[in-house]
Amino acid sequence: MEDSRPLGPLPINRDCNYIAAFLTFACCYRCSYCINSFESRPNRSGRIMPGPEWIAGLSRLKDLDQAAGTVPVTLQGGEPSLHPDFYEIINGLPPRIRIDLLTNLGFDVQEMIDRVDPQRLRRDAPYASIRVSYHPEQMDLTETLDKTHQLLEAGFSIGIWSVLHPDQEEHVRAAQERARREGIDFRLKEFLGFHRGKLHGHYRYPQACSLKETRRVECRTTELLIGPGGDIYRCHHDLYENMPPVGHLLDPAYRMRAGFLPCAAYGRCNPCDVKIKTNRLQQFGHTSVEIRFLDEPVGQAACDELPIAANRG
Ligand code: SF4
Ligand code: SF4
Repeated sequence: MEDSRPLGPLPINRDCNYIAAFLTFACCYRCSYCINSFESRPNRSGRIMPGPEWIAGLSRLKDLDQAAGTVPVTLQGGEPSLHPDFYEIINGLPPRIRIDLLTNLGFDVQEMIDRVDPQRLRRDAPYASIRVSYHPEQMDLTETLDKTHQLLEAGFSIGIWSVLHPDQEEHVRAAQERARREGIDFRLKEFLGFHRGKLHGHYRYPQACSLKETRRVECRTTELLIGPGGDIYRCHHDLYENMPPVGHLLDPAYRMRAGFLPCAAYGRCNPCDVKIKTNRLQQFGHTSVEIRFLDEPVGQAACDELPIAANRG
């Protein structure tokens, strides 16, 4: 039966470092190394929450202004602009909620300029609020730079990030040089995933992404991850692999858990959860989850059942 109680505020944990709203897993591209498909392809056709529900749910968020700075809500996907109510969501969220956007720029730039106040996507941070992912195998560099220039000139806070994939390193470094000459902030990201049978990336926990043995552990996260249907997941692995959620954004009773939760899927973690990275203050050494080990390996997954799908998009 539907819970008819008023939604009420949803406080985030004191150590919450990241809030992600995955508006949709739909995407106009099929990058071979898409991290959403590290283990298998996420369901791109599941129910997505309509704009008014996203606005109602995200408006519950409380305690976003923390000692280390404001935690923004990052709209992402897939390509978040493919959500039919993309602009309504941006314009409908209360101004106290700061918005970041991860995008491949697959939207009409002029429509963004016409419909969104650049201040809505701007905050005091050491990196841009609109973070463009440039994927050379799918995107045209000149078009990407042109669109970025248009948004910069309109007053948006925008920069480009690109993965240093082993097969694309030379092109990506040249693209960075060109962007810098043109005055565009272009940063590099470590490639995470398998390439020619080798796992790339720096991870805090050994074998976490091996896709081989699984172990029982306890795990706690510093992130609030909300899937396209409004379900809340304890980690990216659970989100992409359609595991049972830990709550729903529109459940009045949902509260962010601060403690450790048991997990038997260690070994199939998504790189996003266990990579060593910078936090939102650009301090290096942060990892999204903390893991406690409980026992020895409990299962040997059959390797031929585990598609090494990182190199498929
Ligand atoms: S990595 Fe490529 S396929 Fe995956 S969400 Fe980004 S643009 Fe889409
Ligand atoms: S151990 Fe890995 S799969 Fe399990 S909850 Fe933590 S990040 Fe997710």
